[in-house]
Amino acid sequence: MSSRPLAALIRRGVALTSLFALSALSPSWAQAETVPPVPPARPADLTEPPAPVVEAPRPPERPPELSGPAARSEATKPDATKTEDGPLTPPPGSPPPLPPARPAELSGEAALALTVSATDDTACRRRLERLGARFEPLPALSDGQCGAARPLKLTALGDGLAVTPPATLVCGAAEALARWAVEAQVLAERDLSRPLAGLTLGTTYLCRGQNHDPEAKLSEHAFANGIDVMAFSFSGRPDIAVASLPEGTPEAAFLAHARATACGFFRTVLGPGTDAAHGNHLHLDERERTAGHRLCQ
Ligand SMILES: [Zn+2]
Repeated sequence: MSSRPLAALIRRGVALTSLFALSALSPSWAQAETVPPVPPARPADLTEPPAPVVEAPRPPERPPELSGPAARSEATKPDATKTEDGPLTPPPGSPPPLPPARPAELSGEAALALTVSATDDTACRRRLERLGARFEPLPALSDGQCGAARPLKLTALGDGLAVTPPATLVCGAAEALARWAVEAQVLAERDLSRPLAGLTLGTTYLCRGQNHDPEAKLSEHAFANGIDVMAFSFSGRPDIAVASLPEGTPEAAFLAHARATACGFFRTVLGPGTDAAHGNHLHLDERERTAGHRLCQ
């Protein structure tokens, strides 16, 4: 045991104790210059007073992990470093898959704008797949002024939500329906405490004028761009048919909320109360109007 390192350690100890103002220890240091074993051990402990005594070993270990690949330390010990690694990991992991999907999902309007402006609906079909919808392409429809170049047969929406009977729709309308259905599922849980199981549809594609008037302008149904929703079905409770229901019931609340939400996804939403022709269904379509006007009645 040489006296030089010991003296150095003691000097360090004294310096540290004065630094941290540990007045209780300093008198014993000043008097115990001749005590060899105890003082060398203490300075090491005294370097860590800033951290909690029990967790003293951890702070020195973390900086190396954080400066190295963050993803690796996250994978090996996600629970221990969760809060500290959390903010660091999203940049390397999420950007590739999420950015393409999120902007469209977050904004129904933006998604619709993209859908309508695209003559090629490949991107729309990809989004529809990503939403979990099940569909297959149909041959082009053409009947006088009616028709659709690239119609789809839609059989289910996300989460296995049934579409009964299968719908004949262009992709933009199918996508709007799929996005709205996600909201309707949330509303069903909230208003009825039951999961939505499916939609019962009336007309989708049909070559006819508005409100079945042959003299009227062609309906969006004539372009596979309109949907009539007749009823909602659920797991564990009876269907709810679209109708004017007595206010104050959970069923009426659900219908009102679902209908109001539809206005965020479709350019046209009509239903009970609009007129006699829409007393028993919600008519939803994607008709383009000047200046982006919507019809939500
Ligand atoms: Zn309709």
